[in-house]
Amino acid sequence: MYTPGARSQALWRTACTLIPGGVNSPVRAFKGVGGQPLFVERGYGCCVQDVDGKEYIDYVMSWGPLILGHAYPRVVEAIRQTCEKGTSFGMPTELENRLASRIVQCVPSIQKVRMVSSGTEAAMSAIRLARGFTGRDLIVKFDGCYHGHSDGLLAAAGSGLATFAIPDTKGVPAKHAEGTLVVPYNNCDAVEAVFAKHGDKIAGIIVEPIAGNVGVIAPASGFLAFLGDITQRHGSLLIFDEVITGFRVGLGGAQGLYGVTPDITVLGKIIGGGMPAAAYGARAEIMDCLAPVGAVYQAGTLSGNPVAMAAGLATVETLIEDPPYARLDASAALLETGLRDAAREAGIPVRQNRVGSMQTLFFTDSPVTDYPTAKKSDARRYAAFFHGMLEQGVYLAPSQFEAGFVSTAHSDAHIQRTIAAARKVMTGLKSV
Ligand SMILES: *Cc1c(COP(=O)(O)O)cnc(C)c1O
Repeated sequence: MYTPGARSQALWRTACTLIPGGVNSPVRAFKGVGGQPLFVERGYGCCVQDVDGKEYIDYVMSWGPLILGHAYPRVVEAIRQTCEKGTSFGMPTELENRLASRIVQCVPSIQKVRMVSSGTEAAMSAIRLARGFTGRDLIVKFDGCYHGHSDGLLAAAGSGLATFAIPDTKGVPAKHAEGTLVVPYNNCDAVEAVFAKHGDKIAGIIVEPIAGNVGVIAPASGFLAFLGDITQRHGSLLIFDEVITGFRVGLGGAQGLYGVTPDITVLGKIIGGGMPAAAYGARAEIMDCLAPVGAVYQAGTLSGNPVAMAAGLATVETLIEDPPYARLDASAALLETGLRDAAREAGIPVRQNRVGSMQTLFFTDSPVTDYPTAKKSDARRYAAFFHGMLEQGVYLAPSQFEAGFVSTAHSDAHIQRTIAAARKVMTGLKSV
């Protein structure tokens, strides 16, 4: 197991006395792989440097926002210029219009958009909007899909089809999750069954159009179109949670890639350019149900924060001016092939799931198409791989069940270094 340097260790000891578990978001604590997290001093391009001066090639990229890499000069400059004029007003600014118009321009389903500060808030608000618009209470979600940590959406553990969900966490009253029906991902029959039973009470389906929070799982052919059909047939709404996929798999997100138009879209991560911003949008008829026009209330002191808007706008405009998606796909394919060859040479069974620049290397020999098949992965072997790669100066997600991201800052040379590291580390995994 990799041990970080002395300063990281000291900061970790202090953090554990001040912050629950030493972290402000659980996955940072390395529970999925063991050991201690390293503390970051700075990031540049595709690299981070820890407080002990060691450099790592980063494939977490703040869990998705940093498609242009760390400290991208245009984004940093936009933030600097904006915050010199004041950091928050609670009054409208032009930057909000500018980012909104870019989102409307790129994302097929969005005519109007409301800015918020986190993906959690955006998904929670989208659900409220769907319920307000349809006048119905039930929400269908998929096993293993993550939509932030709001009460009703933390229910993923529904065992079997059409069971009303049980909260995945303490602190959520059972009745908060009762409005959520959990079904297996990529399973049309299960969706058909819940609609047969509860169709006239279902406000909407929320789905990650490419699952990214159990590791990457692409939608089966026809799955998203089926969700579009069935919601339309029952007067329910289809909500795409594109917090990861928005501006990641193309300017139009997964809906552009697969040609399926949802009713409501949730965005986050990339649209904040590394600052706290997220959004949800839909056609005007739906969005005008929100206060102050309509009766669905939702608000935020820091919503549409100018510094966050500036970072998001600089990021999104960079992507629009010179769409990097073909380059990103080529970089990610280079990595995918290199890791596959390294695993094969070492005799380690793996399955790779990749859509554009998001990918996961599952340590299993059977296809990963939903949460149960993802869970067949050998998490102990992943942990050994993770620590070996850290030692080699490569920072992967500290859990098997996450997506890895390539940014425009990952050069072929960085990727070749990563593959060389993986070759070394894979040979030692046979005995794990
Ligand atoms: C990260 C994520 C969220 C939550 O966003 P936060 O900004 O962390 O609250 C919601 N949905 C998906 C698909 C995500 O990946």
